[in-house]
Amino acid sequence: MANIGIIGAGISGLTLASVLKNKGYQVRVFERGHQPGGAMKTSCSPDGWISEWGPNTIVESSGRIQKLIALAGLEQARIYPSSLTKKRYIVKNGQAMAVPDSLPRLLRTSLLSRSAKWRLFKEPFLRRGRDTDQETVAGFVRRRLGEEFLKWPIDALVGGIYAGDPEKLSLKYAFPRLSLLEKQHGSLLIGQIRGGVRRPPGSDEIPRDKAPIFSFEKGMQMLPDALADQLGGAIHYNHPVHSVACEHPSSGNQPVWIIRSPNDDTQWTFDAIVYAGNAWNIKQTSFPDAIQREISLLETIPHPPVSTITLGYRKRDIQHPLDGFGMLIPGIESFPILGTLFTSSLFPNRAPDTDHVTLTTYIGGMRQPEVALKEESDQIGLVHKSLTQLLGAKKEPVFSSFIFHQHAIPQYHSEIGHVFETLTQLEANHPGLFFCGNYRSGISVGDSINAAFDLASDIITKIPLSS
Ligand SMILES: Cc1cc2nc3c(=O)[nH]c(=O)nc-3n(C[C@H](O)[C@H](O)[C@H](O)COP(=O)(O)OP(=O)(O)OC[C@H]3O[C@@H](n4cnc5c(N)ncnc54)[C@H](O)[C@@H]3O)c2cc1C
Repeated sequence: MANIGIIGAGISGLTLASVLKNKGYQVRVFERGHQPGGAMKTSCSPDGWISEWGPNTIVESSGRIQKLIALAGLEQARIYPSSLTKKRYIVKNGQAMAVPDSLPRLLRTSLLSRSAKWRLFKEPFLRRGRDTDQETVAGFVRRRLGEEFLKWPIDALVGGIYAGDPEKLSLKYAFPRLSLLEKQHGSLLIGQIRGGVRRPPGSDEIPRDKAPIFSFEKGMQMLPDALADQLGGAIHYNHPVHSVACEHPSSGNQPVWIIRSPNDDTQWTFDAIVYAGNAWNIKQTSFPDAIQREISLLETIPHPPVSTITLGYRKRDIQHPLDGFGMLIPGIESFPILGTLFTSSLFPNRAPDTDHVTLTTYIGGMRQPEVALKEESDQIGLVHKSLTQLLGAKKEPVFSSFIFHQHAIPQYHSEIGHVFETLTQLEANHPGLFFCGNYRSGISVGDSINAAFDLASDIITKIPLSS
């Protein structure tokens, strides 16, 4: 029976392992840390606060995500935010302002000036851009929507999703849908009215405006935990893979892949191996020379530091109604935070009871990496001060949780296209070598799950079960 070695037990590696195991493949997962999930971890305090280390929600962007939840046996554990949290805030002139969700509200909002609104209505009449493959997000938005859109809503959004810089992110790779909307419809507005990006026939993709957002009763970690439970002894924790070798049998058969870890003398042989680890530390794993030279490109992808700070307050000490998903803060507003999720408005059980609220704030990113490197107490102080100004926090928080990600989210800058091409070429030149992870096919949890399903189909085609 074909056996597949997978390096990394984040959501990418776990999804791939579960799908392949379900199809009858023998899988073995090697994880550097002592638990599954990578960035997807949850802390539950004894007094009832639930705080996420990384992602707080998953967007159900395809039917593959539903399949994974079914495989994990977690259909009943899913929780959805109330429809009240559809409201989102963006900070302008030091105030959290609601993002307009209808034409009349758009006309009335003071989030955008009259000239910016006028510019928006002119967007359908602009010509398509030419040679846009190298364009940055900032260049694209300036061209189609103008400077004000870039400085407030788009900068805020890019900070919230990538902790990134729109002047550096590639439109084609970081926001492929926006790029396709212009290519397919000639206009973002018209494209949106016509139902968004066209889906290929047979695609299980769910359009973004219809895709539900969800988490799990006891937090995001329920998903990796459930997948890991099912994989059981097939996962080796505290097993950083330091060496991957490849042997070509003289008979001309498929090559054999060999994994070694410094923890024991065992060497594991596989019909195929998948690197589902991180891009930033790829050099900690040695590969055969010809692969090593190319693969080290992964290390050039910037991964800025980000801190996740969850604060708990008495509800009566917060003046803002917290009637939404959260607020995003554009760089131009000069706050030391990227944005705050109104976590207990989304999922009430994230606070111990209805007299308390939980707020999750992200700090750092490409915009202000130095802030995420400050002392923990300084960062918590900066968050509290910002929440005092923006949400009217009147008293000190009664709970805090602090998680520091030294290398948080891969930034898809314009050079990333070359990295993607190199990975595709390596897979073509070295049968049995595969790559999977947030450094390749999108940074969200949903993207990671979708890509792992797609890779599983590719492996099933290339490495027959009976190998
Ligand atoms: C602060 C933060 C907030 C986020 N918020 C959201 C959100 O709200 N929604 C959303 O959809 N996404 C969000 N994301 C993004 C998303 O969580 C990640 O992109 C996704 O979880 C990545 O999964 P992965 O498996 O590709 O990588 P990882 O989760 O990084 O997993 C890689 C695993 O490989 C292991 N590993 C690495 N090298 C080796 C080696 N040599 N040997 C053995 N093991 C190795 C690592 O220990 C790790 O466990 C957020 C990310 C962060 C950091």
